[in-house]
Amino acid sequence: MEVHKITVCGGGNGAQTLVPIAAHNLGCPVDIYAPFADEAERLRAGVAAHGGLEVTGAVQAQAQPRRISTDPTEVIPGSDVVVLVLPAFAHESTLRQIIPFLDEGAWVGAMPARGGFDYCAAQILAEHNRDDVGLFGLQTLPWACRIREYGQVVHVLGVKNVVDVATRPAAKVEQIASLLERMLGLSIGVAANMLALTLANTGQLIHPGIMYGLFAGWDGRPFGTDDVPLFYQGLSEEGAQTLAGLSDDVQAIRTRLEPTLDLSAVRPLKAWLLRSYGDAIADPSSLRRAFVTNRAYAGLKAPVREVSPGQFVPDFHARYLAEDVPFGLAVSRAIARLAGVETPTMDEVIAWAGAQLGKDYLDRDASEARIPQKYGLGSLEALITFLEVKQDLCAKCMKLADKNYRS
Ligand code: NAD
Repeated sequence: MEVHKITVCGGGNGAQTLVPIAAHNLGCPVDIYAPFADEAERLRAGVAAHGGLEVTGAVQAQAQPRRISTDPTEVIPGSDVVVLVLPAFAHESTLRQIIPFLDEGAWVGAMPARGGFDYCAAQILAEHNRDDVGLFGLQTLPWACRIREYGQVVHVLGVKNVVDVATRPAAKVEQIASLLERMLGLSIGVAANMLALTLANTGQLIHPGIMYGLFAGWDGRPFGTDDVPLFYQGLSEEGAQTLAGLSDDVQAIRTRLEPTLDLSAVRPLKAWLLRSYGDAIADPSSLRRAFVTNRAYAGLKAPVREVSPGQFVPDFHARYLAEDVPFGLAVSRAIARLAGVETPTMDEVIAWAGAQLGKDYLDRDASEARIPQKYGLGSLEALITFLEVKQDLCAKCMKLADKNYRS
């Protein structure tokens, strides 16, 4: 697939990592759509001061984005590929802003996709009669990365060996996989369909699961600066059991659906960890050891907020719950319900996370999560049909589904 220009949506860690890597690897112009807050202005100032965006650490690249804008009409037209590098709660609003300006036959992808990106995006495409647009999603962000100097330097702490992609239509996956291999400079695996990506979203297991392990028994007393727990390296044996339980729940869904669908990309958590990080893991002998000895996770602390000078409490509104439950665990649990599969560990973690967030994602607030039922996919048959039907039929089907949902 030939690419003349791409656009990256977002102004955070992942977006600032992708832009120079993609520009360097593809040798084509890369624009940035950054409408959030004052990010476009800050990006322009940073890039001007530093002479471009620079990635340091486990991956190195430096490049100038061609254009940085808050106006989609300035950056979306002419893009063969548009990549959303955003938390999942920003997908829908961003898609609504960009879709009217996409070129015929363009591709739009999310990096990472999280749960339910495909039916959410397909609904918006259908509203705009854009069944010519292809969709793709990555199973995870390829890098653990943090901005060092906004608009100037991002540091990559770790890079995955291989990341899976799925597309809609699924038949085009090889085309997008080979483009992404060139763009990202790493191995891209193929997932047979986008439901596999939803279920294979390991962020939904790791982030809420570790938060639960670290803080479900928290006594409410603030931590001093030196006592803030390490997020991954602080994983206890009990915490690892929660992660294993969450992974087992996903595997139960996989087993139930696998006779109908190819879900081989939905790997058990430990298998995913070893495949993704390989040699970065010093001791793969158990799930816990694989986490605590993973070089790419070293030193990362649990999310906390300062309540008085030098005193910290867990930040339950950080992404690890606020994104990974409504765009992760709650989505998989809703799919499990359609499939008639019990998910005991998911239920426990979702209930606890919901209590911290003031939400009942198991019942009252379930439709605030990106669950298939909210998009008119109210049965297992509808969900599977949605995956299998061709794009043109799909647009009609989604319009109908949307009408049903709104009425
Ligand atoms: P980030 O916080 O650095 O950036 C998020 C960007 O999203 C912001 O800079 C802004 O451009 C945009 N945004 C935020 N809120 C918005 C809103 N309400 N409306 C519109 N746009 C908004 O995030 P990141 O670290 O780049 O992460 C991006 C995604 O990758 C997330 O899903 C994250 O969970 C995932 N991820 C990140 C890492 C990492 O190491 N950074 C690793 C694995 C997965």
